[in-house]
Amino acid sequence: MSFLSKQTVLDELKKAKASKIKEWRDNLPTWCPGCGHFTGLHGLYEAAERLKIPSKDFVVVSGIGCSGRFPFFIKGFGLHGLHGRAIPIATGIKIANPDLTVVVVGGDGDGVGIGGGHFPHAARSNFNLTYILLDNSIYGLTKGQISPTSPMGMKSGTSPYGNIARPLNPTTLSLAYGATFVARTFSRERDMVSELITKAIQHKGFSFIHDLSPCVVFNKDVTYDSWNAAAAKLPEEHDILDRSRAMSLAESTDPIYQGLFFREEVPTFDDHVQKVKDGLNQPA
Ligand code: SF4
Ligand code: MG
Repeated sequence: MSFLSKQTVLDELKKAKASKIKEWRDNLPTWCPGCGHFTGLHGLYEAAERLKIPSKDFVVVSGIGCSGRFPFFIKGFGLHGLHGRAIPIATGIKIANPDLTVVVVGGDGDGVGIGGGHFPHAARSNFNLTYILLDNSIYGLTKGQISPTSPMGMKSGTSPYGNIARPLNPTTLSLAYGATFVARTFSRERDMVSELITKAIQHKGFSFIHDLSPCVVFNKDVTYDSWNAAAAKLPEEHDILDRSRAMSLAESTDPIYQGLFFREEVPTFDDHVQKVKDGLNQPA
């Protein structure tokens, strides 16, 4: 694992002091030092501060896993749901209370393993909420078993001879499912994570962030260094309205592109629900 230079640490401390994110902070995070999830959490604090989301209108829903602790660390409403069931809980909250800002946070096992059946339907329906998938290619909370995004050959407690199944790619899945905002970030790039989470929350529709967020304790194969070696920003000329080009860039594993792949504005699920309600209220 590489370490940040002294100057970078001092600059980051200065930035943190100047930032007003403490208004959205709650309990102190309990993750292992160096866990990638700290960057995602910081990004969410910064987005809430930039967008001035009142705590009373801010809901964070999580599933199970190390990322499941998010709601405890944020001042707002929160629900730590069942494994893989964060999305249906969040969509229910959004239908009942369309004015709330709803953010779903989950891991790779939670989102494309046990909860893999919910993701496509929230995306294709274009629910107006944000889904942040913190991908560390392992089950961290249960101490290191291969997950649906672990690379082939990776050894773990449940794959002593190496993983023999091909990994899923959450970015390409979200594009195929019809998400209307798709971005990939890397927990080493704090400013990029904050900026894209802010844009995702601003987006009207289903916004998806695939954050590469290393587990520094249990994953010795997929690390800050391994992702950093393959990381690249999306080409400047990339047209974010072109879903098929976004798909081919998202499929690349060398380099692994980061940035905003795709965005489109189409009516949301909430818009359609409102239309139905308005129709029901018309005199016969
Ligand atoms: Fe993060 Fe891994 Fe520690 Fe969980 S076990 S908090 S994912 S470093
Ligand atoms: Mg995981």
